[in-house]
Parts: sequence; structure tokens; C-alpha cells
Amino acid sequence: MLSAFTLFGILTVSCLMSVAILGSLIRSAVPGVSRWCLGYAMLAVASSWVLLAGAGAGAITMIGVSMTTLGAVMLLVQGTRQFFGVSPVRRGECVALLVVFVVLLYFTRVSPNVGARGMLISIGLAYGRITVGTLALRHAAGEGSRYACRLVTAAAWLGALVSIARTIAIAFGVVPSLSFLQPSPWNVALLGLAIVTLPCLSTGMVMLAHDRVLRKMEKLATIDELTGALTRRAFMEKANVLLSQARERGGALSIVILDIDNFKAVNDGFGHAVGDRLLAHVASVVAAQLGAGDLFGRLGGEEFAIVFASAGKHDAATLTNALRLAVERSSAGGVACTLSAGVGRLVPADTLESALVRADAALYVAKAAGRNRVIMTSEVDGDEAGYVAEPR
Ligand code: GH3
Ligand code: MG
Ligand code: MG
Repeated sequence: MLSAFTLFGILTVSCLMSVAILGSLIRSAVPGVSRWCLGYAMLAVASSWVLLAGAGAGAITMIGVSMTTLGAVMLLVQGTRQFFGVSPVRRGECVALLVVFVVLLYFTRVSPNVGARGMLISIGLAYGRITVGTLALRHAAGEGSRYACRLVTAAAWLGALVSIARTIAIAFGVVPSLSFLQPSPWNVALLGLAIVTLPCLSTGMVMLAHDRVLRKMEKLATIDELTGALTRRAFMEKANVLLSQARERGGALSIVILDIDNFKAVNDGFGHAVGDRLLAHVASVVAAQLGAGDLFGRLGGEEFAIVFASAGKHDAATLTNALRLAVERSSAGGVACTLSAGVGRLVPADTLESALVRADAALYVAKAAGRNRVIMTSEVDGDEAGYVAEPR
């Protein structure tokens, strides 16, 4: 049979591996990861302490090991709360840890009772594991990484089951030896299960952190941080999909390029920060007026693009003119601006790029004609004469 010492050796190595993997994720700044890492480091300290103390470990050593283990579990719980954005219960848990310490001292020095000590520690471990598992289960739907959440729940609850089984076994006197270091089948089974659940739990935590980082990167690549509009790359990708769909069903599709007028003067006159605020403001005014099926992206600088998924050119020009008026009427902290826009429709031979080039040409005409107006591509599309939405 496996000796308890061998199992503690495996436990130490597995905790150190968890520390190494969780530690590599600390710089990702995902909330909770540092506490998880510190928690596993303390578990490694506790199990190696048992190994170093050997079979002759005294009661004080066992109290030290127990408090280190419970402290580690508390860090894992706090890290999980932090990860899911749940408010901390730090004071309550620190007070509970202090109470456990005093009670452990009592059952060691004043009225020695190994069973009571074992039960107290097992209850503490069960509490921590149930809390971690429940938090992961409760947030599985919102987290978008259900598999990782369920792995954390399964590992934590299985660990809790082991702790509860130990508590019951001690209470009913089933465990022949109360020390984990004795090679009884009970101890080996309970220790073995604990060893299996801990790396499973840390694997789940690593997966959660990875998913969080991945979603953050995806968001950065898709959404422009300053304006909340789609980034150029994401806009082009989604616009190409809409373009293929419009082509398949033969429906209408219009493309608009918007550009803030004389934006450089805003930067020069009020500073870059005010310019940034104005950019975000214009984007929010435009986005608020668009429908759910429309695409809105920032092509770069103070230039934006819109795809009206099922609007013909005239409808798109009317909608764009409404956007122009809304922007003209608004202001960001007293700083106002106007927009110029070029509107084009999709013609059969179009690629997204060619449609954008024509909309850009119409924008150029709008700028040349004095700004603050919407111009439709007309000559290139072969439509009727260009509709011009000019300033009122
Ligand atoms: P026009 O009416 O012809 O479009 O003139 P404009 O001044 O708006 O255009 P121009 O291309 O001359 O200047 C655009 C300015 O936008 C220059 C650049 O510094 C500024 N800009 C680009 N990106 C940002 C940004 O993210 N924040 C801020 N504050 N300014 C930006
Ligand atoms: Mg401009
Ligand atoms: Mg520009």
C-alpha cells in the first residue's frame, strides 16, 4: 500500500506545479489569481512541513500545519470571490480563523482531544471547498466558460465530500487512527482523494483565468476601447458577412463613411483629452440612433463607417442625415462638432473595399463642398443624380 509519506510527497509536488502554473498567470492581472497562487503555495508549505516533521510530529506542529492549510483554503475562497466579482467576507473569515486557532490550542494544551481537532479542521476544509464550488456553479452561466466552472465545482465538492466523510468518520469513531500519517486504508483513501481533487481544482482555476484573458483579448480586438465602436478589423469582417448575405438574397445594403469636421482644430484648441472625449461622444450619439442589425465601426482616427443592412441608398442617406443633425445639436462638455458623410449602395460587382472607396469619394465631395453634409455616390453607381443633405 502507498505510504502516507509518499502521498504527502505527491501532494507537495502537485501543489508546487499548481503554484508554477497559476504564478505564470499573475501578470495577466485576472482578479483572484494571485490569491489562488498564494493559497497553493501555502498548501505546498503545509504538506512539506508534514514531510519534514515526520512521524514524530508533535501537536504544535500539527496546529501549525492545520492553520497553514486552513489559511490556504481561505485564500482560495477569497480568490474565487475576487475572480467572480463577489464582495469579500474577509473580516468574518479572519475572525473564524482566529477562533479555530484558539479552539485548536484549547484541544491541544488545556483539554487534549485529537478527534475534536480533526473534526474542526475537516469542517473548515469542507466550508472552503463548498464555498468555492458553489461560487463557480452560480457564476457558470455568466462566465461563458461553463466547462471550467463545472470542473472547479466538481473538484471542490468532491474535496468537500472527503472532508465531510472524515468529520463523520471521526464523530462515529470509524477512523482507527486520527493521524493522516498512519498508513490505514481510511487515511490513504482520504488523502488520495484530496490529492486528486486539488490539482483538478487548480486546473479548473487556470482554465477560468485563461478563458477570462482570452475574452479580454477578443474584446480588445473587436471593440475600440475609446469609442465602443467595432475596430476596423472586426468591422470589415462583419461587413463582409453582411455583404455576402445581401448578395445571396439580392437585398439592399448601404455603406456610409463618416468623418468629424475640423477635428484637428479641436485637438489643437482644447487638447488631446478633450478630443478623445468628443470622439467617444460622437460615437455614442451615432450608436444610440442605429438599429440592432446595423454595423458601426471606427476605421481610424476620427473616421467611422456604418453598414445599413437592409436600407437602400436613399434611406441610408436620410438616416445618415439624422445622425449628422443629432451630432450637430449635441456637445461634449461644451465642445461641439459636425460630421460629413459619404453614402453608397452595394452594386453587383462590388467588393467591400470598392464600396468603401466610392463612399470615401462621396465623403471627399462633402468635405470639398464645405463640410457638415451628406453626399451620396451617384455617378459611379449609375443612379439618379446625387442626393445631397446639406446643413439646414
Ligand atoms: P477634415 O474636416 O478635413 O476631416 O479635417 P480634420 O481636422 O478633421 O482632419 P485631419 O485629418 O486634418 O485631422 C484629424 C485629426 O484627428 C488628426 C489627429 O491627430 C486626430 N486624431 C486621430 N485619432 C485621434 C484620437 O484617437 N484622439 C484624438 N484626440 N485625436 C485623434
Ligand atoms: Mg476629419
Ligand atoms: Mg479623417
